[in-house]
Amino acid sequence: MRKPFVAGNWKMNTNGQTSVQLAKRIAAGSAETAGHGVTVAVCPPFVYLQAVTKALSSSSIAVGAQDMYFEPDGAFTGEISSSMLKDTGCTYCLCGHSERRHVIGETDELINKKVAAAISGGLLPILCVGELLSERQASKTNEVVTRQLKQGLAGLSAEKLSAVTIAYEPVRAIGTGVTATPEQAQEAHDFIRTLVGRMYDGRAAEEIRILYGGSVKPGNAAELMGCKDIDGLLVGGASLKADDFLAIIQAAV
Ligand code: PEP
Repeated sequence: MRKPFVAGNWKMNTNGQTSVQLAKRIAAGSAETAGHGVTVAVCPPFVYLQAVTKALSSSSIAVGAQDMYFEPDGAFTGEISSSMLKDTGCTYCLCGHSERRHVIGETDELINKKVAAAISGGLLPILCVGELLSERQASKTNEVVTRQLKQGLAGLSAEKLSAVTIAYEPVRAIGTGVTATPEQAQEAHDFIRTLVGRMYDGRAAEEIRILYGGSVKPGNAAELMGCKDIDGLLVGGASLKADDFLAIIQAAV
């Protein structure tokens, strides 16, 4: 049985005060559910990780980073290593979020190094994949997702894969209010699970959690979670409103 997983990606939002307030409101409102029926994580900006981890210390909500660099230390100005993230109390790390791929220009090769380094450093990577609108219109969704998964997971053993969560996020649905239909999302998740089965084995396919992301809201969370291969939700905008995020967590239980 795959435990549902809801993760909030705060992106470049909040400040020192509002990050802690948001974390505390989410913890208070999910005391009965987080960590029991559903895994919950929040991914604040790097500079608030420590404060948010402290604010959540008596809750079952995990903290994740939005990115990391693959080198352990050294002359990499502006970058953050896995051990630094571990130091702040992080459990998870997003790797290859679409904004990193398409705004910052990260390649599959770089993302693969991050996934591998996250696991070696004791973090649980959430590998994000998903096609652009133009790629969907050109019927290239499966081709793009196959490339992102094969390259993103290159060199990882089945044992290491057990540390990985996959997030399918069609880029046209991120931050646009236009979510994929449950049928489109289920089709892509089924494709991803089948591909993992081909790349590894049936057990790996059965065990891996695949989250859907892209304009998830309280009003569509339950329907998405009702799809057979959707194991959880990666939430951007709605994770910045405690009441909305709590309603989404409730829909995933
Ligand atoms: C995201 O940032 O991963 C995301 C899915 O954003 P939103 O929910 O705002 O579309």
